[in-house]
Amino acid sequence: MNTFGKGADRICGVAAAPTARELEKQVARALRITRTVELRLDWLRSDLEREKFLASLKRSGPRRATFLATCRRRVGGGEFPGDAGAELFWLIKAKEAGCLWCDLEVETLRELPGESVRGYDVPPGVLLSFHDFRSTPRLPKKLRIPAHGGIDAIKVAAMARTIADSARLLRALRGSRQVIAAPMGEIGLPARLLALREGSALAYAPVAAATAPGQLHLRDFKELYRVHQITRKTRVYGVIGNPIGHSLSPLLHNTGYVAAKKDAVFLPFLVEKLDDFLKTLEEFGVAGFSVTLPHKEAIFKRLDVCEPLAAEIGAVNTVTVRRNGALYGSNTDYLGVLQALEKKVKLRKSRVLIFGAGGAARAAGFAVAKAGAEIFVCARRKAAARKLARAVEGSVIPHTLLKKEKFDVIVNATPVGMHPQAGISPLAANELNCSLVMDLIYRPLRTKLLQAAAAKGIRTVSGVEMFLAQGIAQWELWMGRPAPEGPMRRAVLRGLQAEENAHK
Ligand code: NAP
Repeated sequence: MNTFGKGADRICGVAAAPTARELEKQVARALRITRTVELRLDWLRSDLEREKFLASLKRSGPRRATFLATCRRRVGGGEFPGDAGAELFWLIKAKEAGCLWCDLEVETLRELPGESVRGYDVPPGVLLSFHDFRSTPRLPKKLRIPAHGGIDAIKVAAMARTIADSARLLRALRGSRQVIAAPMGEIGLPARLLALREGSALAYAPVAAATAPGQLHLRDFKELYRVHQITRKTRVYGVIGNPIGHSLSPLLHNTGYVAAKKDAVFLPFLVEKLDDFLKTLEEFGVAGFSVTLPHKEAIFKRLDVCEPLAAEIGAVNTVTVRRNGALYGSNTDYLGVLQALEKKVKLRKSRVLIFGAGGAARAAGFAVAKAGAEIFVCARRKAAARKLARAVEGSVIPHTLLKKEKFDVIVNATPVGMHPQAGISPLAANELNCSLVMDLIYRPLRTKLLQAAAAKGIRTVSGVEMFLAQGIAQWELWMGRPAPEGPMRRAVLRGLQAEENAHK
């Protein structure tokens, strides 16, 4: 029987482009990362491009690679406009060009005499694929390869509408061989990253740059998430939020695991309903997770134990899953603000203005108050400002007085000035009468507020310092050892810089 590769080669790079030339380039890029590559012949814009591409593949000769040819018709969710006969024509050509496998959708198999591909000179390995782009259908307890029809492996790709859907698809893999499970969509991404661990024969990742949240690049699959090395012993962590596609936490934590050679992985969970995620904790083997908007307050009710300080702040950004399954909540945002500021200024007896009164403002307020600073809160909702000021034994200050008052530190804890509204500042230059300004925003790295402060000779701290410090504190809490801060910091700064360059 034909079988797929081992180790990193079970990560299948998906090469898909409109021209033969671009497809060739993608194949070359994929081969630097894995020796298993799916060739999406249906994405090529014409038969002429298919001809050109397969001719060049044939010319390049054997490359110690496993090529899987796909020419998916529109009826099966692909781009190929031809009928079943035309699809088979291109798969036969793909075999002549050296492809060892082909992907045949179930819609095509059903149109063949006797529902069998035997007798057609297609590549020797035949992968029968089922796609459901809308939902995850009812699945048998165990996915089995049909005994007839000349099929060597099967693939089920289904849209995960819930995390439980994606877990169900992985469950159907248990005990099977030569079966591929591919949960689709952003909700299905963590399960897609864990599929090899659960016994999927392959895990697919695009070679081209990711274009939508939740899409991950082949290089990330292999080098950041190391999906081919994940086993049942690998400790699984993650971040939950909605949206989550732009979270930098997976980059931060996974870079730390790679640098410290830790057998752990950190996954991005798009969580619409908290219960949907919590129900799958055990199945996925999650040992801890970061919590971001909008779940920072709702998570409280689900905790078994909460660190007193997090309870006082009223927000939890870190949950540790104990051996008995109990959830322990804590807050490292607090530490994040504290460490970022303490590197630059002595907080004891200083006057600190917190601008805003939401979750981050509360973490900042408690942090600087505990460090012995005097707190002033300015927020557009008077009641929220009063509540925070009372909690940290500080006072409320109206916006109109800011230009007359002097502070040691001003902290912006509102989203004003965040990408894509990066052109505005929450405070005017004449309201910045202090020696240090910290903006909790880190997209962009240098906000309008920080630019205005720097122009007046005031020292500045970007929100990225808080992000790094809170994430590093989580990493150390879970790993029980000092984090490799250098590589983690460099990866996050590089990631943010690349985003900013892409927006220019
Ligand atoms: P939040 O709970 O929604 O609070 C936002 C605060 O800003 C509220 O007081 C809100 O007032 C105020 N606000 C919003 N729009 C405003 C406007 N146009 N003018 C004046 N005030 C306005 O959000 P959060 O979680 O505290 O986050 C606040 C900021 O901190 C965000 O930019 C977030 O990205 C950043 N943050 C950074 C980190 C980090 O690691 N660096 C961590 C957490 C948060 P209302 O209540 O009246 O709406």
